[in-house]
Amino acid sequence: MNPSEDERSRKMAEALLKGWKMLPEVCPVCGTPLFETSGGEVICAVCGTKVILVGSEEEVGIEEQRLMLERVMGALMRQLERETLSSSELDDELLSRINSLLNAIEKATSIYRNLVRLGKRRR
Ligand SMILES: [Zn+2]
Repeated sequence: MNPSEDERSRKMAEALLKGWKMLPEVCPVCGTPLFETSGGEVICAVCGTKVILVGSEEEVGIEEQRLMLERVMGALMRQLERETLSSSELDDELLSRINSLLNAIEKATSIYRNLVRLGKRRR
C-alpha cells in the first residue's frame, strides 16, 4: 500500500526536523528521496527501509563479498569454539584441526581487510 501524499510530506518534514540529510538517491521500495541519519545510516523516512548506498556495480560486489566473509568468519569461529569446548584434552588430532581452522580464519580476515580497503579507496 502506498502512503498518501500528505503522509509522505509529513514524514519527510519530520526527518528534516530531526536533522537528517536528504539525499539525491530514492528509496527502492517507495521512490521517496532517502535520508542520511545523524548516525550515518541511510534510511527511507516514509517506509523505514534501510539502504546501503554503493557507488557502482563493482562496489555492490565488494559489499556482498564483505557480508559473505563476515558470515564465513562467524561460522569458522563457532566451529573453533565447538572443537575446543567439546573435548577435555588437546590431542594431536584436535590441535591440527584447530590449527587449520585458525589458518582459515586468518585467510578470511586478510581477504576481508583487503576488501574494506578497496571499498574505501574508491569512495
Ligand atoms: Zn521507502
